[in-house]
Amino acid sequence: MSDSLLPELVDPFRLADKSRVLDGVLDLAAMPRLAEALGRPGEGLCRVELCFDRVPSGRPRLSGHVVAELAPLCQRCLEPMALPVDTRFEMQLVQEDRQTAGALGEEDVLVVGDERLNLVALVEDELMLCLPVVPLHPEQACEAGFQPEFNGRDVKAAQKEENNPFAVLGRLKGGQGADS
Ligand SMILES: [Zn+2]
Repeated sequence: MSDSLLPELVDPFRLADKSRVLDGVLDLAAMPRLAEALGRPGEGLCRVELCFDRVPSGRPRLSGHVVAELAPLCQRCLEPMALPVDTRFEMQLVQEDRQTAGALGEEDVLVVGDERLNLVALVEDELMLCLPVVPLHPEQACEAGFQPEFNGRDVKAAQKEENNPFAVLGRLKGGQGADS
């Protein structure tokens, strides 16, 4: 992978015509929404590889690989925790106004306006998808230590409910909670 900084804006349709590969880095500090999700500004660079080509039907396709070292704040001790991210994604691209109607409802389709794709925002979105809803150190590694009576328990319960939407539903119905 190359160390050159990728441009913020590219023309993905032109890149797809040429089957180009963009390979470089992006600055995590330039991603404000990521900073908000991390609870602190991002530091350092993320490595990015983006392959542009066309699927057999002719629609442009973007395949990406992003590697980063994120450090969200642990929600138990509020200290940063190491979160290595290595994520791959693939999406088809449609041009706003031209093919949008036919593409609505399809999965993994990105609508691009003005023939310009914002690579920073795209990679920022992919990184945010990799963040846990509630970042937590493992209990033994956490500054706050293992405190069963601490609200870490509530956080765990919340995580559990997130995987089980019916738990929340049960509570809304006025029951004692599906997990008690
Ligand atoms: Zn912690």
